[in-house]
Formats: sequence, C-alpha cells, structure tokens
Amino acid sequence: MSKAQDLEKNWYSILGATPSDDLQELKQRYQKLVLMFHPDKQKPGLSEEEAGLCLQRFMDVDQAWKILSNQESKREFDLHLRAHELKQSWPVDACVMLEDMNWDSENKSYSYSCRCGGDFLLEKEDAQDGEDAVVCCDTCSLSIEVKRAT
Ligand SMILES: [Zn+2]
Repeated sequence: MSKAQDLEKNWYSILGATPSDDLQELKQRYQKLVLMFHPDKQKPGLSEEEAGLCLQRFMDVDQAWKILSNQESKREFDLHLRAHELKQSWPVDACVMLEDMNWDSENKSYSYSCRCGGDFLLEKEDAQDGEDAVVCCDTCSLSIEVKRAT
C-alpha cells in the first residue's frame, strides 16, 4: 500500500486486511499470521536475521490486532488513516486561506465554492485545531488545502 507509506505503521496492511474488513475477518487474519510468525513455530535452523524478521512481524501482527480489535483505538486509527490518505491521494485543487472562506454562522462552519459547483466545508472545530487541513468537496473528488495566516 504505497498510499500509506508515511504512516508510522499501517495496521491493516500488517494484517493483510483492509479498513472495510469486519472484526471477524481481522481476527482470522490475525490468528493465521500470529501462528505463522510465532517464535515457537519457526523451523529450526533459521538464521539470526530471519528469526529477527519473524519476531518483528510477530510483534507487529500482535500490535495490529491490539489496536484494531479495540473499538476506540481502531476508530482513532481509521481517522488517522483517512486523514493521511486524503493528503496523499486526493488531488489538491488549491490552497485557500482560512480567512478567504465564507463563514456560515448557521452551520458553524467555513465554506468555499468548488469549481464543480459543490462546496468545501470545514467545521469550526477542525478549523481551530491549529493545523492546516485538507478538505474534500462535497460533490466531486477535488480537495483544497486550507492554510491559516501565521
Ligand atoms: Zn467539487
């Protein structure tokens, strides 16, 4: 998954899974891999390097399952992954200053018109977290990067 290159670790790819897999599928993948890489299950005569790699995989698989089997940490990771994928793979159409967006006091959000006629919407809370944000059009696949004045 080249999209996720910059993630520290993509727990889904470690399990050979995708974010749409349900818990049961994740569990099956985990159980299969954890047996495959378990230090006690390795053939005798592995080189130190091979054994080290297996151990690393084993720990990754174990960690992936810990994160993805827990509803809360899974949700957190899903958000993280999604934010990351937006940055990586969505065409960024433009950089927009937050100040140039229209404040919609009714919806408590900033909006900006896309050239397709749709809107980019940025929730107030998201605008306040102090980081540049990538916002998707609500109609097409374009996104904009929202910058704030420094
Ligand atoms: Zn659009």
